[in-house]
Amino acid sequence: MTSSTFPLPRIVVVGTGGTIAGAAPTATQTTGYQAGALPVSQLLEAVPGLDTFARIESEPVASIDSKDMSTALWLALAQRIDALLARDDVDGVVVTHGTDTLEETAYFLHLLVKSPKPVVMTAAMRPATAISADGPLNLLQAVRVAGSPAAHGRGVLVVFAGRIHSAREVAKTSTFSIDAFASPETGPLGWIHDAQIEFERRGERLHTVATPFRLGVREADAARAASSASSPGEIQVAPYAIDGALPDVDIVTSYAGVTRIAVDALVASGANGIVVAGTGGGSIHHRLLAGLSDAADQGVAVVRASRVGAGHVLHNGAASDDRLGFVSAGSLSPFKARVLLMVALASGLRGVDELQGAFDTF
Ligand code: ASP
Repeated sequence: MTSSTFPLPRIVVVGTGGTIAGAAPTATQTTGYQAGALPVSQLLEAVPGLDTFARIESEPVASIDSKDMSTALWLALAQRIDALLARDDVDGVVVTHGTDTLEETAYFLHLLVKSPKPVVMTAAMRPATAISADGPLNLLQAVRVAGSPAAHGRGVLVVFAGRIHSAREVAKTSTFSIDAFASPETGPLGWIHDAQIEFERRGERLHTVATPFRLGVREADAARAASSASSPGEIQVAPYAIDGALPDVDIVTSYAGVTRIAVDALVASGANGIVVAGTGGGSIHHRLLAGLSDAADQGVAVVRASRVGAGHVLHNGAASDDRLGFVSAGSLSPFKARVLLMVALASGLRGVDELQGAFDTF
């Protein structure tokens, strides 16, 4: 077969900054660099022969250190990716990002993007100027995965150091190793080694086109659309609508000797939700528990997660969660539980039953 029979996939590489776009004064320096210093177009130039794997477009959306990621940028990124994937001539999107908050952005997009086309995020642990920079190979592998039909319909993927992870499961697990990402409870979805791309399994939770979360649809419009579409005997669920800013949701941690001061301050500041990174399976120091119980009584959504980094937090129902008005995060980390809680609250979900339903589903 000639390449004219099967044209190369068209992939748009969206840049947001990070160490992959980082620059240091010398090639031997892998710390103390400026993240997000180089334009995404320059990152592409560092991958030899990239145009033999895909027809590439690049687009800068931001140039930040991902420690400074904002919810406004999440929304802008999701909107831009939706617009790109709506183009018939675009086969997939790659997002270059900092490693520090990559897993949060990835899960946000996993819940919100409305296309089955591949969205692949990648990053690097060494700046672009360093000897043995890991960015160029990660970028090449991300482009190849984004151009692969096998990556369709799997939600947002994270390609890093040869492994392909689901946005829902992946976490940064090393502060310095170039093998810095893992999916602690489940393992990766698959791997890439040169031209060979293999998926070993599918993530089971609903994502992208299968979630009811929608960007920029006003609730009134969604409700009108749902009621006009329904016919007798048919139950229509209005798309949950996210319009504008996301709610304020913060994270507190339980540990020896913790006080309730942080929780009380969050409630006083008008927080909409609080995720608690509990000890072990989601247990909470009695002082923090008292603060969180009062918060729930005042209408703040409280989600119990674990600080352990693997495993899950069971909903213990009548034993305490239902009595206290708490939701359990299941297998989501506190950081991803915060993402889902923001999206769920922004979409109009309220109360333990509706919110627990979201945590059991996405
Ligand atoms: N601080 C950097 C960032 O997250 C770290 C990295 O990209 O590895 O943007």
